[in-house]
Amino acid sequence: MSYDNWKLSNPQDDGWASDEVTSCCGVDQEGSGLSNCCDAKFYLETDICSACKEHAEEYMICTECGYSDQCYTMIELHEYQERRREDAQEYNKDE
Ligand SMILES: [Zn+2]
Ligand SMILES: [Zn+2]
Repeated sequence: MSYDNWKLSNPQDDGWASDEVTSCCGVDQEGSGLSNCCDAKFYLETDICSACKEHAEEYMICTECGYSDQCYTMIELHEYQERRREDAQEYNKDE
């Protein structure tokens, strides 16, 4: 599912993503299209996992590295930039 479709289906959440990014790469996340229980496709247009036939949630992935939301958290963009800056300072210290 594209980001636009995802956003359209969640109009009440409009605006949340304005400055939230993944903690790993500092980019948007997107729906994986796979269930978080079995890592399987959904049955047709439902939220039923095609592997276990149970209701399931779609997990999100980082649009940059493709890792699942198990591997990152959503943080404010300025917080991500702050971390990057600290990492850079850390690196310079070791030089
Ligand atoms: Zn399942
Ligand atoms: Zn990432």
